Amino acid sequence: MENSTLKPMNSEQLREYGHQMVDFIADYYKTIESFPVRSQVKPGYLKELLPDSAPKRPESLQDVLNDVRQKIIPGVTHWQSPDYFAYYPSNSSTAGFLGEMLSAGFNIVGFSWVTSPAATELEVIVLDWLAKMLKLPNEFLSSGQGGGVIQGTASEAILVVLLAARDKVLRKLGRSSLEKLVVYASDQTHAALQKACQIAGIYPENFRVLKADSNTNYALVPDKLQEAIMNDLSSGLIPFFLCATVGTTSSAAVDPLSELGKVAKANDMWFHVDAAYAGSACICPEYRHHIDGIEEATSFGMNAHKWFLTNFDCSVLWVKDQSALIQSLSTNPEYLKNKASQENNVVDFKDWQIPLGRRFRSLKLWMVLRLYGLENLQSYIRNHIKLAEQFAELVCSDHRFEVVAPRTFSLVCFRLIPREGDQDNGYKLNYNLLDAVNSSGKIFISHTVLSGKFVLRFAVGAPLTEESHVKAAWKVLQDQATILLTDQN
Ligand code: PLP
Repeated sequence: MENSTLKPMNSEQLREYGHQMVDFIADYYKTIESFPVRSQVKPGYLKELLPDSAPKRPESLQDVLNDVRQKIIPGVTHWQSPDYFAYYPSNSSTAGFLGEMLSAGFNIVGFSWVTSPAATELEVIVLDWLAKMLKLPNEFLSSGQGGGVIQGTASEAILVVLLAARDKVLRKLGRSSLEKLVVYASDQTHAALQKACQIAGIYPENFRVLKADSNTNYALVPDKLQEAIMNDLSSGLIPFFLCATVGTTSSAAVDPLSELGKVAKANDMWFHVDAAYAGSACICPEYRHHIDGIEEATSFGMNAHKWFLTNFDCSVLWVKDQSALIQSLSTNPEYLKNKASQENNVVDFKDWQIPLGRRFRSLKLWMVLRLYGLENLQSYIRNHIKLAEQFAELVCSDHRFEVVAPRTFSLVCFRLIPREGDQDNGYKLNYNLLDAVNSSGKIFISHTVLSGKFVLRFAVGAPLTEESHVKAAWKVLQDQATILLTDQN
């Protein structure tokens, strides 16, 4: 086919090129282990390789794919590699990929029901399905005042509920109360909350970051929350928002939802639960107890795009009171008015999110739920948790290492034990180990700091990871540790 004749859309050309692209992607997955997991390029590498301006005449797909092979892939960090153990996973899957393809195929912009009724209605149904899999209280289902909505990220989910909570209070007390509104969370809460506070205009001095330490395995202590609230009340401030986490970013700590929720309720606060990573595990009966107390929450979020085989992006948020979101985020310009919306019997998801435009993301989740089914999804989670358990055992079996925080899900926090009297408590030693293993390209892990200790994070959760990868990763870590410790002596 002549490249110059590539039309904006032509079904036969799409078929031909689409098949080539699927082949290309399938080959990528087949060979994914041959690439360095973390890209090894230097900043600015691509500018050296690509022309200064876009081509005037069309080029061939083959030329573009050659460039992808030679110039783009070296700058890709392979999140889907089975040797990827950094941050938290960001899953792709065949079902998620097919859903993503279909979504790109329709390419609708489903901001209001009328712009594609199926997009809105499927989202409502699929989020009810997932809520039932998680055994969320009925108030989060669409049959009552609540319901679920797909956001791009957990950060957006936190922002929209913070805005809803803020406006709910300000409607009651008047806008001048903004300066008195106080937000509470632990120091293990994701920085997305800080960003949301900045955007929502919360006064920086009214953001209470409560310390959580190893005594509670980095979970927020309800008494500390209570004490902070009492202090603020006595200073004439208005506690209005609490964010708890199930599966914190640093160490996968779980905040005690029941007790925290009771404190929030007693003080008439919005209680958001962020389970971006660990929420997925709660579809297994044996891990569901980690969200016990969720009935106290006002809103609950998890990222299906992290550990639930749904290609990025797909962050799921449920609220008990959809009107709070809508009152904060809805607009009604003339050019978007339509009969269905005006008759008030449809959901318009534009009023539950920041942007207007939105993709048909529920297709991905629907495909994942239907093509894998609950049982396979549960096995998928269980297998990763088992692999993480095995990794933790390997760490414990080597006297040079220690596990630094309890392993609850599929994350292991560990480090090389520093020598007695080590000046920086093992910071440099572990930093160097991290750098060495990631520079080897064989595996990719990340780090955090817990109680002043530089800690390595090993998060199992990539779809292709098997026991052999975990064992090989441990060998890479051991070998690099041996080199570092020999150099040190
Ligand atoms: N909350 C938690 C607990 C997380 O671990 C993360 C990311 O890892 C986030 C929020 C932010 O996620 P997102 O990138 O979807 O905003």
